[in-house]
Amino acid sequence: MRLFVVILLLTGLTGCQSGSQPEPIQYSVPAEVEPYLKSFRDEATKRNKSVSTANLIVTFGTAQSEDVCGQCVLENGKTPRITLNSDDFCWKTASANERECLVFHELGHCLLNRGHKTDKFPNGAYVSLMNPDNVAVYATCRYPIGSDECDKRDRREYYIDELFDATTPAPAWGK
Ligand SMILES: [Zn+2]
Repeated sequence: MRLFVVILLLTGLTGCQSGSQPEPIQYSVPAEVEPYLKSFRDEATKRNKSVSTANLIVTFGTAQSEDVCGQCVLENGKTPRITLNSDDFCWKTASANERECLVFHELGHCLLNRGHKTDKFPNGAYVSLMNPDNVAVYATCRYPIGSDECDKRDRREYYIDELFDATTPAPAWGK
């Protein structure tokens, strides 16, 4: 009897989504990408954000989106899917920080429901990691951590703050 009710409920919930079969919760992330998922979870925890990465598929392939290097596909009842280009520019010769930036941008789409944001600060830097510009989008993340260049670490902190909370105030270096 209880089973019947559950089935009815599921049918009711998905009945209006024509043609889409609900998928089970699944997690499949290439080993090379997993460190950035861990980092994403750590950064979310640091900011007291509860974001589940339990339902996610990441694959290397050819992204067909304006992001050039990556793509997030969200469909009702289906596991969010991220495709990353594995070519030299996007992945093979990219630094750890550039890879992190790309993965975080796509996770912004797939898990945080963020769209693109093209705004810039008065100094010309992008306001958000969620800007779609094919080169500069990731350049905002070209922040060699530990470099003596003034504010690189702050920049990473700011962009990740903004990723999780779009109302994050502009940092001093953006003015
Ligand atoms: Zn994007």
